[in-house]
Amino acid sequence: MADLIDKLLGIFRPFLIVKNLFRKPMTLQFPYDSLPPVEGYRGRHILDLDKCTGCFICSMICPNKAIWLVEFRGRMYPQVDLGKCCFCQLCEEYCSQKAIKLTPQSMMVTMDRKSAILGPEQLSETPT
Ligand code: SF4
Ligand code: SF4
Repeated sequence: MADLIDKLLGIFRPFLIVKNLFRKPMTLQFPYDSLPPVEGYRGRHILDLDKCTGCFICSMICPNKAIWLVEFRGRMYPQVDLGKCCFCQLCEEYCSQKAIKLTPQSMMVTMDRKSAILGPEQLSETPT
């Protein structure tokens, strides 16, 4: 009996494949279409200029030396090199002011290394 079922399935299997022709595609046309980020995804940083005290903790704790402070509007603020960052989130964890955070923004494509460096003003803008 089991043999008969196997044989029948063998005969009908090619016809079952035809149903895939009428299914919606499983792939998306990236970058025009993409899935929402998974919960907890660590992407591009955002900096709250009002909260940041310029304490240097984030730059000292960064294992990749991807974050350092620069002068902006007469004060010191972090700047991040996304090309060096490994998105470990240590800068966010150690910031006592909760001024720097990682966002779910994953679109960080750039054609040159210099534009991967985000200054305080760029970091303060909400990623789109
Ligand atoms: S982002 Fe936080 S840790 Fe970094 S300089 Fe500002 S206050 Fe200090
Ligand atoms: S996420 Fe990690 S590697 Fe990136 S800037 Fe912060 S501390 Fe450095």
